[in-house]
Amino acid sequence: MSLTVVGSVALDTVETPSGINKDGLGGAATYFALAAANFTQVHLVGVVGEDFPEEHVNLLDSKGINLDGLERAAGKTFRWVGKYHDDINFRDTLDTQLNVFESFHPKVPEKAQQAPFLFLGNIHPALQLEVLDQTNHQFVALDTMNLWIDITLDDLKKVLSRVDCLIINDEEAKQLTGVKDLRRAAAAIQNMGPQFVVIKKGEHGCMLFGEADEIFAMPALPLDEVVDPTGAGDSFAGGFMGYLANQEKIDFQSLKNAVVHGSATASFTCEAFGPDRLATVSLGKIEGRVQEFRALTHF
Ligand code: AMP
Repeated sequence: MSLTVVGSVALDTVETPSGINKDGLGGAATYFALAAANFTQVHLVGVVGEDFPEEHVNLLDSKGINLDGLERAAGKTFRWVGKYHDDINFRDTLDTQLNVFESFHPKVPEKAQQAPFLFLGNIHPALQLEVLDQTNHQFVALDTMNLWIDITLDDLKKVLSRVDCLIINDEEAKQLTGVKDLRRAAAAIQNMGPQFVVIKKGEHGCMLFGEADEIFAMPALPLDEVVDPTGAGDSFAGGFMGYLANQEKIDFQSLKNAVVHGSATASFTCEAFGPDRLATVSLGKIEGRVQEFRALTHF
């Protein structure tokens, strides 16, 4: 079944201990779509400016991603600048320029409205509500960030009451709920609406929480070299939702498998700058990594 993603399409400048990548292709929706396109038909809804290179549009198009919902507006593309520490698990955002994103109101094309699966990337919760009002979805997952928890919690809670799954990192889960232990934080989030909660813990993997105390824990794959982890979270979400969109039944077992496929997909993203490595993967390579996860965790 098809899948719609709404979120940022960006030009990122990223510095890591491996080097610097200036004005490269980035954005949460970009990573998500490239990851999910390995599994299913993806509709991307977002906005870019007049400066967005055609080669990036061609790359997304060559992966079969439907770009009818990618607006080209007057002005500059959203830009983000990040610098990673020597310990690559930590980074600082040095600059965020909203540019065309500032006046963006998502217009979801008809085919994208009908997609049964929807991923609300990390954008202002008021825009996420606009998308929910335009779509006809069966399963919705949501990403958010500390900024929205800080400045627009009421809107965020309205979104939460209308989604099936929240994908969030551990610090944000604690901030959102005021609860320090992850099991109780997940339960508090479920009380806000989502049936399922995925809490990401960076290099330590992630945990999936379902109903009736169902919990599944997943390590991250130990990689030989992490060049640039930017977009790993969005690639995880893309692999997770892409896998789910192909399943007959959405239950705790299919979500467990989705977490493994999301983790396998995200591991590729970290191996090169931007989406360079992610853009070269195939379903076969992802399945190979799923086997590595199986060997890593089986006893
Ligand atoms: P992640 O590493 O998963 O946090 O995702 C990083 C991507 O998110 C980068 O490609 C950025 O362009 C994009 N990004 C960073 N900040 C924001 C923001 N405030 N709103 C939307 N997208 C953002």
